[in-house]
Amino acid sequence: MASSRPLGGLPADPYKSAMRQKSSRQARAARAEAIFERLAAVNPEPKGAQATDAGVNKATRGLFAIADTPQKMAALGVERLTERIRTIGLYRAKARNVIALSQAIIERHAGQTPRNREALEALPGVGRKTANVVLNNAFGESTLAVDTHVFRVANRLAIAPGKTPREVEDELLRVIPQRFLRHAHHWLILHGRYVCKARKPLCGACVLVDLCPFEPKTLAA
Ligand code: SF4
Repeated sequence: MASSRPLGGLPADPYKSAMRQKSSRQARAARAEAIFERLAAVNPEPKGAQATDAGVNKATRGLFAIADTPQKMAALGVERLTERIRTIGLYRAKARNVIALSQAIIERHAGQTPRNREALEALPGVGRKTANVVLNNAFGESTLAVDTHVFRVANRLAIAPGKTPREVEDELLRVIPQRFLRHAHHWLILHGRYVCKARKPLCGACVLVDLCPFEPKTLAA
């Protein structure tokens, strides 16, 4: 039976297809530059976004005052830590994880948080997103953690369309100019949390409205 697909699954004209992809990435990169120029103008030094969960902020404020190193955290032990973080969801499991993590940092890295993705991701409870946050916030590296806000905003703005956080992360790293990478994660999170909200984006108050192809923006006031 004759197939409508080009031979071997390749595009009919690989050169044209490659050029289309390239130019669309170039177009997205140009738009990304304009977007980050604007976000930087509005908020030049974005601070690490606090958790929106009041229970998390309440628990961590007191906790970090008495246990600001892996050694002090490990010395606290699971039971006392559990008591201190009762306002956080899944606090029992989280207390166990934090103690295991603190012990692993002491045993494997002499109590110092490693500045290395592989070593970070090998620690208990640490995945790619957390490793990216640590590398960016603690060490100033140009990594980009994709959480729910970053994922949504990158897709709506269509600068890094993707079906998975990793796809979006890889594409963001390709299209965002180097000079904006250090703070890109914070700008996108803050924008997603307070303006480009999940259910009802505040397009009428958005500084990016003319750069955004997301359709529903025409409906919101
Ligand atoms: S215009 Fe609307 S959808 Fe687009 S980034 Fe702004 S808030 Fe989000």
